[in-house]
Amino acid sequence: MIEREILWRLAPHIIWPLRFVLPHHKGLRPAWLLRLGLFIYDHLGGRKLLPATRTLSLKRDPAGVPLKEAGGIAFEYSDCWVEDARLVVLNAMDARERGAIIETRHRLVSADRADGLWSLIIEDTRSGARKTISARVLVNAAGPWVGDVLSGKVRSNTTAKVRLVQGSHIVVRKVFEHDRSYIFQNQDGRIIFAIPYERDFTLIGTTDRDYQGDPAKVVATDEEIAYLCAAASEYFAKPVQTSDVVWTYSGVRPLYDDGASKAQEATRDYVLTLDAPGDKTPLLSIFGGKITTYRRLAEAALEKLAPFFAPGIAEKKGWTAEARLPGGDFPQEDYEGLVSQLARDHAGISRPLIARLVRAYGTRATDILKDAKSEQDLGTLFGSNLTQREVQYLIANEWAQTTEDVLWRRSKLGLKMSKSEVTVLDAYMQSEHLKIQRGVELGERTE
Ligand SMILES: Cc1cc2nc3c(=O)[nH]c(=O)nc-3n(C[C@H](O)[C@H](O)[C@H](O)COP(=O)(O)OP(=O)(O)OC[C@H]3O[C@@H](n4cnc5c(N)ncnc54)[C@H](O)[C@@H]3O)c2cc1C
Repeated sequence: MIEREILWRLAPHIIWPLRFVLPHHKGLRPAWLLRLGLFIYDHLGGRKLLPATRTLSLKRDPAGVPLKEAGGIAFEYSDCWVEDARLVVLNAMDARERGAIIETRHRLVSADRADGLWSLIIEDTRSGARKTISARVLVNAAGPWVGDVLSGKVRSNTTAKVRLVQGSHIVVRKVFEHDRSYIFQNQDGRIIFAIPYERDFTLIGTTDRDYQGDPAKVVATDEEIAYLCAAASEYFAKPVQTSDVVWTYSGVRPLYDDGASKAQEATRDYVLTLDAPGDKTPLLSIFGGKITTYRRLAEAALEKLAPFFAPGIAEKKGWTAEARLPGGDFPQEDYEGLVSQLARDHAGISRPLIARLVRAYGTRATDILKDAKSEQDLGTLFGSNLTQREVQYLIANEWAQTTEDVLWRRSKLGLKMSKSEVTVLDAYMQSEHLKIQRGVELGERTE
């Protein structure tokens, strides 16, 4: 089975099929060659559940409507969408439920090998408190900071290098009405996509440019925003203007430096390097990779580390392909069925609210809805269907501490809430945070 179908099954609330339309025009590879490539993508990749590739006439298909050149043909193929921030938190929750200790807002300050173990100093970034923990193995999965951890924290003299490549996205109000996405070939040979986003918006990306500096400070530049607008305007009948952009976000790809001359040509495959002097205290560093391969990457990492654990601990092969992520325990093609069932069970609560909860939390939406009969039962309504119960769930279960966590890192409701709504939520988050802090202090005093 292809990896996309496995991931869709493991978390059908946050991962779902997406059809991409690739308009064909002069200057692209010949139509027969593209069709052949997509045939191979469909058949050799092991696709079973995702719909197959098809050819469509842009004159007759609604996909042609928003395009400048509405004649000709296009190819439509399957990929998947994932809510990436939610994928991260669901994996962390899953790990916690299997016994892991998750320390959010902590950073590794130093790592030293001593007597066959790692001695790690970690710091709470909010209080500044430090503690030392020991570990048998250390995995450096610091993404764009992989090199910083190697040189600054572990003080290793490895020759493996990371190439930081910036990619930016723009978000504009809906450019088209249907639920498919476009993939456009730009004049410079790069491709850009336009994807329906958060119901009312279109997401357009990405760019590829070498990046220097602190990855935490990366922002979309004016030049990148203009590039994406111009590239999309080559295809859409109604030009996309920089003034249409409502939000941008940018990331840094931590690619393995394979010496490619252009940023867009550097390998996207992951590379794992293992450093274990005298076959002890291993350090595994991760370069590159894609969200699509994250599960396989994790299994490959454990395979490399298995010899350092006692027999039976890390050699259980292949179990993650069957392990549903939190809330993902429902039939992968029946998101609507779950929404309908919860809408029946909570008849006084609007379907859009329930549909959004199921998209975010899957079957765990019931932990928020509990026995609520009406929306009033869900407490304060902060705006855009965000209720007090949901915020409390995020604080109790998903490590949310700030307004930004709730609005941008656990959801994308920040796109929809007004300034005054954010202010009310902010006051609530601060009061909840104080309560939690006081609770911790009280707990410490009574221990
Ligand atoms: C613009 C762009 C577009 C992309 N598009 C796609 C796509 O379409 N499909 C796809 O599959 N993939 C895509 N990717 C790739 C995908 O986003 C990455 O593979 C993925 O995010 C990597 O996750 P990660 O957990 O390895 O790294 P990150 O998400 O970067 O996480 C690294 C973490 O390490 C933490 N850290 C750093 N230093 C320390 C320290 N000293 N102590 C403690 N923690 C530390 C950081 O705070 C961070 O949370 C894209 C990437 C970019 C940038």
